[in-house]
Amino acid sequence: MQSAIVLGGGMVGVSTALHLQRRGWSVTLVDRKEPGRETSYGNAGIIQSEAVRPYPMPRDPATLARIAMGRTNDVRYRLASLPQHAGPLLRYWWNSTPERHREATLAWARLIAYATAEHDTLIRDAHADNLIRRAGYRLLHRDPAALEQAIAVAEENQRDFGVTFRVLDGRELAKAEPLLRDDLPGAIHWLGPWTVSDPGGLVSAYAGLFERLGGTLLRGDAQTLTETTSGWSVDTSGGRIDAAHVVVTLGPWSPQLLRKFGYRIPLVRKRGYHMHYQGGRSLDLPLVDTANGYAMAPMAKGIRITTGAELTSPDAPATPIQLGY
Ligand SMILES: Cc1cc2nc3c(=O)[nH]c(=O)nc-3n(C[C@H](O)[C@H](O)[C@H](O)COP(=O)(O)OP(=O)(O)OC[C@H]3O[C@@H](n4cnc5c(N)ncnc54)[C@H](O)[C@@H]3O)c2cc1C
Repeated sequence: MQSAIVLGGGMVGVSTALHLQRRGWSVTLVDRKEPGRETSYGNAGIIQSEAVRPYPMPRDPATLARIAMGRTNDVRYRLASLPQHAGPLLRYWWNSTPERHREATLAWARLIAYATAEHDTLIRDAHADNLIRRAGYRLLHRDPAALEQAIAVAEENQRDFGVTFRVLDGRELAKAEPLLRDDLPGAIHWLGPWTVSDPGGLVSAYAGLFERLGGTLLRGDAQTLTETTSGWSVDTSGGRIDAAHVVVTLGPWSPQLLRKFGYRIPLVRKRGYHMHYQGGRSLDLPLVDTANGYAMAPMAKGIRITTGAELTSPDAPATPIQLGY
């Protein structure tokens, strides 16, 4: 039987462990915390089947200048961490030319087409249906010209990739979401995506499924990984674990470990922050406010606000300035 250690129990690690297990592998999943307590906990909870185009890096000087001067809420950066990001950002820039972005979109759209179908199987097997809503989410636009432009792109995506949406004018939007004023230009309601009321809870449910199917879940530090004559070894709360293969799914911490073994992964680390608000009216569906660079989602703990990206180092102290906007 093939064996693997999966390092990192976020959404990516837990799903990888389950898929290897389904293919008959013996799998040990190792995390320094409980599964699903980092990035896979604090996100906006959208299973984005409509996101057929990867986000290109902005290339127009006006947007770049606004980011550089700290005038946008969707991207902020820490000056001290910029040298670490310079190489990956240059590659991101290079790969964001219209032709390269088109190429990336064709590859990416083929993957994203499986997003809800792949989760569906896991959700059912993990009995996690209570965490899922299959009703899409909305993209709010505060500027009529930006809404028109977004509708044109949505129509292109519908034609080329079959994603579905509905346009709501300001009044329809306020009727659907009474929290909002009725004088906004409107929103795009993406109909295909699913949303999760507790993203960390979904990872825990998948981890529970992995254990029920015979997988081993242990606490341990990935930094203890060493190469052996027959494969790989790592120290865990259950002692030293050996396997023929190792999968590194440490999210933003992956490049740090892989560097030790000679791999230089050009990752732009985009940290985000979240906060829950309780009391008062809630939202019907998650809403992304494009102009202000944040998302709000009705979740188990209240309305969750998630911010745009902060370019920083993985273990830098929290600076949740974007939550204050
Ligand atoms: C604000 C925000 C909103 C987002 N919204 C969405 C969304 O709506 N939809 C969407 O699809 N994506 C969204 N994302 C992105 C998504 O959350 C991430 O792509 C995803 O969670 C990454 O999962 P992961 O398993 O790679 O990483 P993580 O969830 O970070 O998992 C990495 C794991 O590695 C472990 N680890 C780290 N170092 C060690 C070590 N030394 N030893 C052992 N274990 C270690 C950690 O404890 C952690 O459990 C959002 C991200 C942010 C920041």
